[in-house]
Amino acid sequence: MPTEVAAKTSRSKTADTLADKLARLGITRDEDLVLHLPLRYEDHTRVVTLADVRVGETVQTEGDVVSTEIQYRPRRQLVCLLRDPRSEGASLVLRFFSFYPSHQKSLQPGLRVRVFGDVRDGYFGPEIVHAQFKVVNEATPLPDRLTPVYPTTAGLAQETLRKVIDRVIAADASRTSESLPEALVRKRSLWKFGDAVRFLHAPPPRLTGLVQKALDARTHPAWTRLKFDELLAQQLSLKAHRQARASRRAPVLTGTGALTRKLLERVPFKLTRAQQRVWREISHDLRRTMPMQRLLQGDVGSGKTIVAALAALQAIESGRQVAFMAPTEILAEQHYRKLQAWLGDLGIEIAWLSGSLPAKARRKAQEAIASGTAAFAVGTHALFQEGVGMPHLGLAIIDEQHRFGVAQRLALRDKGLADAHQLMMSATPIPRTLAMTFYADLDVSVLDEMPPGRTPVSTRLVSQKRRTEIIQWIGKACREGRQVYWVCPLIEESEKLELQTAVALHAELTRAFGDDVADAESSVAAQRIAVGLLHGRMKPDAKAATMAAFVRGDLQVLVATTVIEVGVDVPNASIMVIEHAERFGLAQLHQLRGRVGRGATESTCVLLFEEPLTDTARQRLKVIYETTDGFEIARQDLLIRGPGEFLGARQSGVPLLRFADIERDVALIEQARDAADELLRTEPAAAERHLERWLGGKQEFIKA
Ligand code: ADP
Ligand code: MG
Repeated sequence: MPTEVAAKTSRSKTADTLADKLARLGITRDEDLVLHLPLRYEDHTRVVTLADVRVGETVQTEGDVVSTEIQYRPRRQLVCLLRDPRSEGASLVLRFFSFYPSHQKSLQPGLRVRVFGDVRDGYFGPEIVHAQFKVVNEATPLPDRLTPVYPTTAGLAQETLRKVIDRVIAADASRTSESLPEALVRKRSLWKFGDAVRFLHAPPPRLTGLVQKALDARTHPAWTRLKFDELLAQQLSLKAHRQARASRRAPVLTGTGALTRKLLERVPFKLTRAQQRVWREISHDLRRTMPMQRLLQGDVGSGKTIVAALAALQAIESGRQVAFMAPTEILAEQHYRKLQAWLGDLGIEIAWLSGSLPAKARRKAQEAIASGTAAFAVGTHALFQEGVGMPHLGLAIIDEQHRFGVAQRLALRDKGLADAHQLMMSATPIPRTLAMTFYADLDVSVLDEMPPGRTPVSTRLVSQKRRTEIIQWIGKACREGRQVYWVCPLIEESEKLELQTAVALHAELTRAFGDDVADAESSVAAQRIAVGLLHGRMKPDAKAATMAAFVRGDLQVLVATTVIEVGVDVPNASIMVIEHAERFGLAQLHQLRGRVGRGATESTCVLLFEEPLTDTARQRLKVIYETTDGFEIARQDLLIRGPGEFLGARQSGVPLLRFADIERDVALIEQARDAADELLRTEPAAAERHLERWLGGKQEFIKA
């Protein structure tokens, strides 16, 4: 009895670990195994005789083991010599730098082994390092299909994966059955699903060069079918999400126009045509019962804030509350001040909420919000943490939405925000292909026109070696009345180190400009250059005071960590210096550069870089130097980084594409989009089946 129990537990234990390992690959169901497709193939269908083995080729060959021994020079390794009695004199060395005792045991002299690997030129003739091998005899059959190599994880052998996948495909025909209506498949000349997966898991050998190439490049019709299916599932789930939204009811915010008219009268500018158009789109959405989910996209400086304020006023005119959230304290505070200035005397109470507010002030603000006396709440995401309910919420505005994480967005959903209208704003443009895929559930408005009177920023790339020169030039510019942001290097590993660097830079510049004054003592032009410091560890009050001093012009230079990256607006600042620009991402560089060029003075962005540059860093600096167009920069960014990273936080909320490539498969994306509409209209049951196969239990995520 005990042995049986032991056997049972050990069996279930190994089964467990296999399941665990598969789960690490995202495989939890049989369906997932079918969709776990090979990275590439090896041809094990042919055996080359030892005499025909050529250096530089990938081959399968056979030979008899002559000797197997562990050698220690230059380092510990297992060396096995093969010879083939039928091809006289021909030999092959197998070399293993990492090996188990079992390797040595299997490679017993006298045994015949079949080996596979890349042949290189060794000290004693041809050799294979870390060859795949197995002991064979005359009767051991050769496979008649190409051997798939799958993405795998530590401790999960290819052999095991192949077996479980084979078994699942063979065991149950429904796993490879067609999920789509025949007409839809035929109309697009697609392969049948079953044919495609069977082909991809076990392609026949000796394909023609062209077909082999298509298989490797994933342009083969079998791949096309799988990519199409994947894109279709994505489109379907996005549409399902949208339908769910359409069935919910948000407050209808008709507005009266009384407040929006007043705001437009008092701002010292006229809306650009783009702002007018976008404002109309939003205003229209707010009057509907379907909760708005609109992304307002506009390059840095395009004037998104005023549009948001107008939307807010329409909600307030309709007797509802508005929440306005920004990702950083500085930005939230700036919005608060701007809104105060714009709306303060229109009889609208604005509550200010941030994570670091003293408890008492915070409670007061929360009460004003909860009782509804404050129609407007502005703050960081602390706004929606524990205990801040807005009973009459009509509209939530989320600035710089790409900076909010998934967790925060989920929290927003849980706070009952799902039934309010949502306006998200972002300066990071979404390339067209991404808009068609990952963002297809959102409506998008684009501000494609800059307010008049802006002067383009000129960008200079300067090596650290010329730092002194730059400091002198900045000193001169400051005495001419210009103001400067000086951004500290980004140190991702350590906030503490970043802080130290900021303090050191502040000291360096203070000293440099102080000496400057001493030198120029006699000159009339001598004017003190005040250098301020702004970093993430400062108390909000201190931050605000420093920002205010910079806005007033009491500070000429503002040394800052990347806390100023998003949204800060000081029109008189016309020079931006970025230290170690090579460490920043493209989007960040673009955002930082966007802090200048907001006034009438010609602006300059100096990118200080340290050599040597990595290839990617060089690529990034080249892009930022050559273009100021946010869309082009985003497109390049997508090319350099790929969609996974580009999407950042949003990525973890939406299933990423495994097979389709959003740049290369644009045509397929369009087809999938049309097919999704067709399917939902004509065969909703098939749409469901298809979603089930591709997303299974993961559909919930999509709602983030
Ligand atoms: P962003 O889109 O980057 O958030 P902001 O809303 O901060 O841009 O606007 C940038 C600056 O442009 C602000 O100082 C704002 O007052 C000003 N602005 C906005 N719209 C116009 C306009 N139509 N004409 C002139 N200036 C404008
Ligand atoms: Mg902004």
